[in-house]
Amino acid sequence: MSKPTLGIIGGGQLGSMLAIAANKLDIKTIIFCDDIDAPAQNFSNEFIHGDYNDQNKINEFVNKVDIITFEFENIPFETLNEINKSKPVLPKPSVNRIIQHRLAEKDFINKLNIRTTRYVSIEKKSEIDSVQDMLPGLLKTTTLGYDGKGQYLIQKIEDLETLNIDFSKGYILEKLVKLKKEISIIITRFDNKKYEIYEPVENLHEEQILKYSKIPAEIESKILEQSKLWAMQIAEELKYVGTLCVEFFIDRNDNLYVNEIAPRVHNSGHLTINAYNVSQFENHIRAVCKLEQVALKKISNAKMKNIIGNEISFYREKKYEQNEFFFDYLKKEIKSKRKMGHLTTLIK
Ligand code: ADP
Ligand code: MG
Repeated sequence: MSKPTLGIIGGGQLGSMLAIAANKLDIKTIIFCDDIDAPAQNFSNEFIHGDYNDQNKINEFVNKVDIITFEFENIPFETLNEINKSKPVLPKPSVNRIIQHRLAEKDFINKLNIRTTRYVSIEKKSEIDSVQDMLPGLLKTTTLGYDGKGQYLIQKIEDLETLNIDFSKGYILEKLVKLKKEISIIITRFDNKKYEIYEPVENLHEEQILKYSKIPAEIESKILEQSKLWAMQIAEELKYVGTLCVEFFIDRNDNLYVNEIAPRVHNSGHLTINAYNVSQFENHIRAVCKLEQVALKKISNAKMKNIIGNEISFYREKKYEQNEFFFDYLKKEIKSKRKMGHLTTLIK
């Protein structure tokens, strides 16, 4: 059987790394993105620029590919659902409908009897008055947030006066967890009860943006087992195909909570490129293109640093050791708080 051509919606660094992994497996990729400067066009076989609701452009894209996947979860559900009528979209669009909405996502997780932070829906500013036991809390837009965008820390009710929050959008208010640590689990599901699962990654955020990841995570074995089990339960319940990430909080009393699910490859899994025989990206391609499932083998412990904003200039000049792997996302513009590249270091 000849290999399929894979369409990838979204052209950022995750799209780039998916295209590189596909190329290694002899799979052609076409990237569709609304950003004409999308960096992933440097790594794919073809690039189509168009708006996510430009039907003609979408048709052109869909006609050229056999399977479609995506690198970010905020593509309108209707768009994915329409595409899915002519070519398979994996993971399936219904997964996105749940996960792109923070309330639907948390309801879904709680139905599985998996712990999340306490949360409440907020549609009007005045509603916060009656839920003051949820403070200090984080008010987050229910849709379209990433890297801490659309999030407000509310310590006390008076904070609402100084924060200029647009309440025409829907919000979720989450009780702030006293964090000891954050970890994530990356899992690739191929089919019923068929998985490849990576060990937990320990993550450190600065200003709500991931800054450092490392394996092994320094956690108790009980938490390691519980996090893997919950990630498998979530993937199974969603009948997920491809790579998925579950982000977790560990509080100061060693309680584990699911923070959120990313229905895609994830920043905390970049170190799998160098630390494992098969990366999260390659596993995603293998699962969505129905290629062979290869048993995971760890090559090395590792740490990863995200290179954010202006820091990139230094890393572009730097000389690297053999155990260091620098990835430049080739973004046209340097912006503060923008992920510009990453550095993985293999460690003992
Ligand atoms: P995003 O979609 O932007 O990644 P997250 O909900 O994962 O949003 O929040 C980003 C980061 O902010 C988390 O990784 C964590 O460090 C911090 N954070 C978010 N929610 C909470 C919370 N309820 N309690 C404590 N820290 C939180
Ligand atoms: Mg997150």
